[in-house]
Amino acid sequence: MSKDKSARIPTPQAVRGTQDMLGDFADRFAYVVETFERVRRLYGFKRIEVPVIEPTAVFARSLGETTDVVSKEMYSFEDRGGESITLRPEFTAGIARAYITNGWQQFAPLKVATHGPLFRYERPQKGRYRQFHQLDAEVLGSDSPLADAELLVFADQLLKELGISEGVTLTLNTLGDAASRDAWRAALVGHFEAHRGDLSEDSLARLDKNPLRILDSKDPKDRPVADSAPDIDAYLTGEAQDFFGAVTAGLDVAGVAWERNARLVRGLDYYRHTAFEFVTDRLGAQGTVIGGGRYDGLIETLGGPPTAAVGWAGGIERLAMLIDEPSSPDRADFIVVVEDDQLEMVGFEALSVLRRAGVKADLIASGSIKKRFDRAVKRSPDGIVTLGFNDNGTVSPRIRSASELYQIEEILKAIDWRAWDRS
Ligand code: ATP
Ligand code: MG
Repeated sequence: MSKDKSARIPTPQAVRGTQDMLGDFADRFAYVVETFERVRRLYGFKRIEVPVIEPTAVFARSLGETTDVVSKEMYSFEDRGGESITLRPEFTAGIARAYITNGWQQFAPLKVATHGPLFRYERPQKGRYRQFHQLDAEVLGSDSPLADAELLVFADQLLKELGISEGVTLTLNTLGDAASRDAWRAALVGHFEAHRGDLSEDSLARLDKNPLRILDSKDPKDRPVADSAPDIDAYLTGEAQDFFGAVTAGLDVAGVAWERNARLVRGLDYYRHTAFEFVTDRLGAQGTVIGGGRYDGLIETLGGPPTAAVGWAGGIERLAMLIDEPSSPDRADFIVVVEDDQLEMVGFEALSVLRRAGVKADLIASGSIKKRFDRAVKRSPDGIVTLGFNDNGTVSPRIRSASELYQIEEILKAIDWRAWDRS
């Protein structure tokens, strides 16, 4: 048959801003998730799963039309039934939706955690992707400042257990209650109006819709005006002060270091009280690894009952990039070396028996017979089991182990070695 080159099927390219992971980075990624799963159990957070697809309204209503995510970053499309669907750009809105549709008020306060892929149409760069992954933890139905503190202590312990807490700083702010926030907002608008001429184009647009966001603008042009803007402190009600005081007292007794960042905001109207970010300078511009806050008005915005809630999300890729020592999955505790090709099958049996007994084992049964043992040594396992024929044609495993911890001889007694004698 002749091959027509022009008929060859072109190789598909990956979608921009997505990534394939193998080996080292995939291990770091899995390590972040495993550590998160362990720590969230320690803190009593239930596992929750919510769909990747939601009606577009779930995000449009909860995030607000003026946010970057809703106005430019959502992957929205009409499905075959004509419904507008969005690939989740964050977890909180979907979890809030689930809380309402399933009547989970009965479980309040509900502590939940999840992780998985999210989608945002952003400009791809280091630490910023269009499909990325987050860890997420939320406490729904609690207005206690200790819920905020508990979430922050959880995040801090996660970073410590990942071995990346050094160089990562918890920065904290309060947005006060509704009264504090409204008063502060009016003062900010006054300040920004007085300096209109010094603001960037983007910030001028924010001035009408979302003036708080100007405070954390990354545009250098905005910085002098943003930095000289009034802090919220003078506008905090006594109640709001007490709330923030209790959150920071909780952090202090739990031994979690924090810094006040009076410029840190979450722009949406339903955010209240605590706003926070764990930041590092080790990832260039993409320095926020975990971010969150209290969103007491969100569930009501989505049509549910008034519900106090607080949560955070952390970028798995960014956390994985910070880990120094990735675990090495290639390392085997024991390696079974087969020195005669006729014994490949019993080598496979030994491998299975070892693994079933909980020994991390690998098999070397191919390539140059003389080099197999050396290849095993090179991988520095705790021990090597060599399988070959004795001079009299019988088979018995030769065990070389640097550790007494393993009961390898005992484990291998499960095998009927005589069945492999050379007849
Ligand atoms: P940024 O300011 O970096 O855009 P954000 O405020 O949009 O972050 P959140 O929506 O609070 O981020 O998401 C929480 C965390 O998710 C971030 O701190 C970050 O670690 C991670 N994250 C957000 N967007 C991306 C992305 N496009 N690619 C990779 N990680 C991301
Ligand atoms: Mg963003």
